[in-house]
Amino acid sequence: MKVICAWCKKDLGTTEGPEDQISHGMCDECKVQFDEDLKKLKEERDKNKKK
Ligand SMILES: [Zn+2]
Repeated sequence: MKVICAWCKKDLGTTEGPEDQISHGMCDECKVQFDEDLKKLKEERDKNKKK
């Protein structure tokens, strides 16, 4: 079973499962990006809370 990043479609290798199916994961780069976006969202939320 092939694993690709659900965000950038990068090949992440293979995992156990049917050959003709694709599993979705998250690559390190997208994970970092995701964490940053999450942090930004949180900061925005905190800013709005203070108002
Ligand atoms: Zn990715």
